[in-house]
Amino acid sequence: MGSMHQHPQKPNGNGAVEQYDVIIIGAGVVGLYQLYRLRKMGLSVRVFEDADGVGGTWYWNRYPGCRFDSESETYGYSFSEELSREWDWKEHFSGQPENERYLNFVADKFELRKDIQLNSRVSSAVYDESAHQWEVQVEGGQRARAQFLIGAVGILSAKYTPPFEGMDSFEGLSFHTSNWPKEKVDFTGKRVGCIGTGATAVQLIPIVAKEAGQLTVFQRTPNYCAPLRNAEVAPEVQSQWKATYPEIHKRCRESPTGFKYDFDPRSALEVSEEERLALYEELWALPGFKKWLGNFHDIMTNMEANETFAEFVRNKIRERVNDPVVAEMLVPKDHPFGAKRIPLETHYYEAYNRDNVLLVDIRKAPITCITPKGVKTQDAEYEFDVIIYATGFDAVSGPLTRIDIRGEGGQTFKDKWAAGPRSYLGLQSAGFPNFFIGMNSALCNYTVCAELIVEWIADCIGHLREKNLASIQPTLEAEEAWVDHANELAAGTILTAADSWFVGANIPGKKRAVLLYANSAREYRKKCHEVAANGYEGFVLR
Ligand code: NAP
Repeated sequence: MGSMHQHPQKPNGNGAVEQYDVIIIGAGVVGLYQLYRLRKMGLSVRVFEDADGVGGTWYWNRYPGCRFDSESETYGYSFSEELSREWDWKEHFSGQPENERYLNFVADKFELRKDIQLNSRVSSAVYDESAHQWEVQVEGGQRARAQFLIGAVGILSAKYTPPFEGMDSFEGLSFHTSNWPKEKVDFTGKRVGCIGTGATAVQLIPIVAKEAGQLTVFQRTPNYCAPLRNAEVAPEVQSQWKATYPEIHKRCRESPTGFKYDFDPRSALEVSEEERLALYEELWALPGFKKWLGNFHDIMTNMEANETFAEFVRNKIRERVNDPVVAEMLVPKDHPFGAKRIPLETHYYEAYNRDNVLLVDIRKAPITCITPKGVKTQDAEYEFDVIIYATGFDAVSGPLTRIDIRGEGGQTFKDKWAAGPRSYLGLQSAGFPNFFIGMNSALCNYTVCAELIVEWIADCIGHLREKNLASIQPTLEAEEAWVDHANELAAGTILTAADSWFVGANIPGKKRAVLLYANSAREYRKKCHEVAANGYEGFVLR
């Protein structure tokens, strides 16, 4: 891990207002590359980062088993061939400790730390219309101004913990998975409760189950989990990647999902059952997301096609769980395959074959409160030493609306996005000039579209400076058309067919709205480039 002393210190808040060309909020995957890119253009940039280290998601999510389920050679940045060649991925699907090391390596290699101020949570950002500048307030009182502000805050960074009654009274240890302690948590012999069974819980449950005395999993909705099939990277594979990174990166940039594979152009319904099952078995045996994103294209758009694969997956689950009652509890029946993010797993279902693991259906008997001793449901009380809240995030809009962002006429971003995301291209929102949304909310391998966004924003800022322009923001018409288009696209898929973070349905009171851009990443890239090439069509430049 890089040395902390190279980072600028947080001032005490009594000083003058600092002045930069660009302020970036967040030093994760987007923030680090954005800083690199803008600084190369000769701009003065300051990154404010809440954490005491860089890495964003890979800083916060330290729970055991945390890893990405993109292929490592496709998740790493593509912007520097030298970086790609210098870095060795140890696993095909790399784990959190290594991912955090990678992002620290990037910060050191490109000497990014001198412009990143850690332990600095931005509490507000206010647009000064006469000066065309943003003034940012950091908790503790520090103030800084810049012409451009970039919210590189991540789509899954605002953690959500359900406000269970009595949470503070719990006498044991408890934490949300994205606030996991830095020191190793020793579960040996402990009674552990885990609330939630999303992608996060699915990664940690098999590991905690092995260590804990007793693990109780509180499940509301079972998921379609599919085998990750992770492995160490053999030296010859590593060399092969290093020799072909330009092609790998090109393939990802040109693919509809940012991965190395495309959907099968055939319909699941146009082939014989035998042929269909043969493909399903073949995909199932492969590592990673190909069983989702390399499947028949219409499993994402046609319920009948979807059901053929959903039933295949249900049977795979049934095969792996010894107790048929527990197996049925783990089989999803209330939503289509892929309507929620598919968790990729390693020995997840086998965890339920262990004597020390208990699955509790909280759809039948909901949690009523947390007690000093543990978790109480409608029909029982469970005593724990540790409670893990694997309860997810207020996705996409949450990290932005939690900051007091005020645009033209004092309007707040929170109000603007109250009924769902209102942006043009996912990049800017009308009424918030010079504010860029630096997050990948496209349905795309995260880094692949994150790089697209970073580069688009950098080029846009370069264009404004070159033309000596003061501000950019979308027209309301362009924004409305984009929102309609994004909603229409999602309505043509099964993405809205479940209550998940994709539509904000995991947060009580959050307006149901599509949070992801459901187009092919290739089309998205094309559109972003076209808009820029046409003189930032749909934007007002002043
Ligand atoms: P999540 O998918 O939103 O899952 C949260 C879990 O908590 C769900 O099982 C949910 O049940 C449960 N829950 C929420 N509120 C509850 C309540 N009041 N009472 C009982 N249970 C409650 O969150 P996550 O697992 O942290 O994953 C979020 C996203 O992060 C993923 O979809 C993925 O995009 C990303 N992620 C990626 C990786 C990776 O790259 N491998 C790993 C982890 C996470 P319901 O389903 O019934 O709402």
